[in-house]
Amino acid sequence: MKTALDQLNVVNSYAELPRQFHTMLLPQPLTDPRLLHANPAVAALLGLSDAVLNTPAFLQVFSGQRPLPGGKTLAAVYSGHQFGVWAGQLGDGRAHLLGEVVAPSGHWELQLKGSGMTPYSRMGDGRAVLRSSVREYLASEAMAGLGIPTTRALALVVSDDKVYRETVETAAIVTRVSPSFVRFGSFEHWSAAPETMRLLLDYVVDRHYPQCREPEAGMPDDAQGVVFRFLRAVVARTARLMADWQTAGFCHGVMNTDNMSIIGLTLDYGPYGFMDSFQANHVCNHSDTQGRYAWNAQPAVAHWNLYRLGAALLQMGVDPEGLKAQLRCYEADFLAPYQANLARKLGLAAYREQDESLVDEWWKLLHTQRADFSLSFRRLADVTQDSSLFLSLFDDHEPARAWLDTYLARIAQDGRSDAARRAQMNGANPLYVLRNHLAETAIRAAAKGDASEIETLMTLLGDPYTERPGYEAYAQPAPEWASQLEVSCSS
Ligand code: AMP
Ligand code: MG
Ligand code: MG
Repeated sequence: MKTALDQLNVVNSYAELPRQFHTMLLPQPLTDPRLLHANPAVAALLGLSDAVLNTPAFLQVFSGQRPLPGGKTLAAVYSGHQFGVWAGQLGDGRAHLLGEVVAPSGHWELQLKGSGMTPYSRMGDGRAVLRSSVREYLASEAMAGLGIPTTRALALVVSDDKVYRETVETAAIVTRVSPSFVRFGSFEHWSAAPETMRLLLDYVVDRHYPQCREPEAGMPDDAQGVVFRFLRAVVARTARLMADWQTAGFCHGVMNTDNMSIIGLTLDYGPYGFMDSFQANHVCNHSDTQGRYAWNAQPAVAHWNLYRLGAALLQMGVDPEGLKAQLRCYEADFLAPYQANLARKLGLAAYREQDESLVDEWWKLLHTQRADFSLSFRRLADVTQDSSLFLSLFDDHEPARAWLDTYLARIAQDGRSDAARRAQMNGANPLYVLRNHLAETAIRAAAKGDASEIETLMTLLGDPYTERPGYEAYAQPAPEWASQLEVSCSS
């Protein structure tokens, strides 16, 4: 019988790369899989109606029981630097690429995560636990709701199959959706085989960076110029992503080069965290004992990762000075969107150079008092009417009041209406944030087969800026018990 999935226009461009890039193989399906949640917003991107989500065919494909009609299922190889050290070959150790859907909204690769062992599983079991799968499912959509570049999530399938981590947990599969799953590490993998790297470069440039083929002043016209412009474009996208992460209080947790998307998306949600109390050197990943991926280290780590990408591209025989020139653009590429984001979040008409001390003092205030990251920004919008809710976020009101005085003087200089400033701020500062304790509550319900918390969070996080009556509990600082929650690389 033909289903709506048979109607999809599926191509397999990644599968058409030479065989060194991947292994063709089928997933290992879960036993008695159930669809816990599906995401109509992502289904719509693919051209699928809501009705398809509850069909047996949908469950079969996204639990790994049947291939995507027209798709060639594969696991991709890549390498990478993990925690600053070259780790050699990694790859999709528990993920299967199902194929690429061509829709009016674009090309979307569909990938199962937690779908069984592959030749790249190393010591792993090929599975993902329900806990981390719920976290990835929610975070993808939370980031999309914030307008931050990210891979998306289509479906969350669960089962009673046991998975052994620190304790016995159950297995789940998330379907991730992205224009590409190529990573910095996909390029690093071919450092000793530059002719093969060239094929990957052509593949990625053709699909995601076609403008790099156009001549540009100050760049060589030959193949070298394409490499330089490509690196330049990846630098820009990565820098923008870091600006967005920093101003959302998002910590990725495992910024290894194999988790860095070549198209500048947030990729691979593991021990991530949206900060509750602000601490500049907050480390969300309990396994990161050195604090390598602390919040305030992220922009510099991304730059370091870009250097690893540059070092891989160097193997294609291009001029090192040309590559270095692109890498030097990183700081400016980061600062421009970072300052623009902050201006919107603080309600400034535009960021001025003189605003640096206002911003520094703001971070210092939040850090010293461990004030709630998201609510400090959100409630700042209303201080011209009533500052009490804002001040209640600080243990010591005096320094907060002193900062407010400077702030009020600064916004007065813009000469804008208060309503305009508040509207701008409320469109840039989310009220609903995927805090660890909210994810945890959704996980506990999901473990009992109850997807209602996931459903609520998907609704709130899909439009996190708009206040909804009845959901006050979701817009509060974290409760005391949240500080006991630990997330780690265990997933
Ligand atoms: P990550 O730290 O999640 O980015 O994973 C790093 C590498 O380990 C990737 O190659 C993953 O595919 C692989 N990996 C992580 N967990 C598992 C698992 N349970 N089974 C097989 N491979 C895994
Ligand atoms: Mg990874
Ligand atoms: Mg991971």
